[in-house]
Amino acid sequence: MYSRKAKIKNWGNYPKVNSNQLFFENEKDVSKINLSIARGLGRSYGDSSLFSTTIEMSKYNYIQSFSEDGVLECTGGLSLEEIINIFSIRGWFLPVTPGTKYVTIGGAIASNVHGKNHHTDGSFSKYVLSFHLFNGNSIIECSRQENRDLFLATFGGMGLTGIIISAKIQLLSIETSYIIQDQKRASNFEELMSYFESSEEEKYSVAWIDCLAIGNELGRGVLITGHHATRDDLYGTTFFDNPLKLHTSLQVKIPIDFPDFILCSESVYLFNYLYYSKPSSETIKGFCKFDPFFYPLDFVSEWNRIYGSTGFVQYQFVIPMKSSREALRVILEKISDKGFASFLAVLKLFGEEDEGFLSFPMRGYTLALDFKIVEGLFDFLEELDQIVLKAGGRLYLAKDARMSKSTFHKSCYDINGFQEVLKKYNCGDYFKSLQSERLGL
Ligand SMILES: Cc1cc2nc3c(=O)[nH]c(=O)nc-3n(C[C@H](O)[C@H](O)[C@H](O)COP(=O)(O)OP(=O)(O)OC[C@H]3O[C@@H](n4cnc5c(N)ncnc54)[C@H](O)[C@@H]3O)c2cc1C
Repeated sequence: MYSRKAKIKNWGNYPKVNSNQLFFENEKDVSKINLSIARGLGRSYGDSSLFSTTIEMSKYNYIQSFSEDGVLECTGGLSLEEIINIFSIRGWFLPVTPGTKYVTIGGAIASNVHGKNHHTDGSFSKYVLSFHLFNGNSIIECSRQENRDLFLATFGGMGLTGIIISAKIQLLSIETSYIIQDQKRASNFEELMSYFESSEEEKYSVAWIDCLAIGNELGRGVLITGHHATRDDLYGTTFFDNPLKLHTSLQVKIPIDFPDFILCSESVYLFNYLYYSKPSSETIKGFCKFDPFFYPLDFVSEWNRIYGSTGFVQYQFVIPMKSSREALRVILEKISDKGFASFLAVLKLFGEEDEGFLSFPMRGYTLALDFKIVEGLFDFLEELDQIVLKAGGRLYLAKDARMSKSTFHKSCYDINGFQEVLKKYNCGDYFKSLQSERLGL
């Protein structure tokens, strides 16, 4: 294990911390681990993988086995991108994928990530058969049968149960590397919700909302749905002869942190206006490659730099179905009133809650908003926290950099159950992060 001292941060560029980074190379390295937190590719937005010592896992990226029925065994530092590059041309894809492929298997498990298909297929945990976890004392095998409590606590456990050394995952069989995509433009919130609900059968769905629209246009947006194309679907097209092609898309890079004046409410307004106007008709249907469908943001590498050197936060919450319409409307009204403009406002529909203690999804709607850090923002987000709590919702720890301990302890996570598991396996003596200290976890 080699080490480096550096100032590190995750995707939101906030907070930044001086850290001793220990780069994990093989299983023997566990003997050198003291108080620390595991870190993958740093694609969580806040401080969940930041601490004075981090165990950097992304160079520990190996495939250990693959069986004919699509069960992949790999180390915790392997990225989703590496899995797609190797397996999609062989007819296998990720059963659940977040909106970036630059995430490690360890990070996907620790956050229990969701994709555009939570309403149909659940979270990442559903496809994890087992993993090996270093809990500070030894490497333990965890599955639904063995050490079940530790297995479940690790999904959404934000690295606090230990280090995921390796995992067995069931991949999804696909016939082609194309998605049949449909886009519908909704002129207000009511229309958008009804489009969502009438598309529940579609495997993938996601909506972008113009969060600066007001009055009758409040909540206007574009719903994008899709499902994997079969070979038959490609018949008669130029894609038919090579249905499992690996598409590598060009990446544009943001070379510097943008100065403050570039990202102002006028530029966000313009972006939202252009995005909303983009579909040339009310509905657009057609074939789409994996990358633009699942990972549109990966097209611009280091896009987080547009928020400047002070950084930004992503505010993502879920509201249970019964109160979601009302609470979302109130939150959107508050955002457009206060003018805290968000480039990206992404709405998804969740299915049933996953097993476990700190998993984020629950049946209802989730909205993710990006906010540049400016004076007054954190007070404003505190106000939104209260609306989310009152509506029976909760915030996503993978995106969090600022939630208060009191908000966290009032939210409907099974915090006591989680802490009992940490105590039972002594994980709390070894693993801590800036986030766990802030939230008293
Ligand atoms: C553009 C973008 C889009 C995104 N879209 C989505 C989305 O649609 N859905 C979604 O759910 N998330 C989404 N995310 C969030 C991202 O998927 C999660 O934050 C994920 O956990 C990041 O993984 P990572 O490998 O970068 O880990 P890090 O960010 O480094 O760490 C995240 C957490 O995982 C823990 N961890 C990492 N590796 C290990 C390990 N080997 N063992 C134990 N714990 C470990 C860390 O301690 C930390 O608590 C998005 C992020 C970005 C930047």
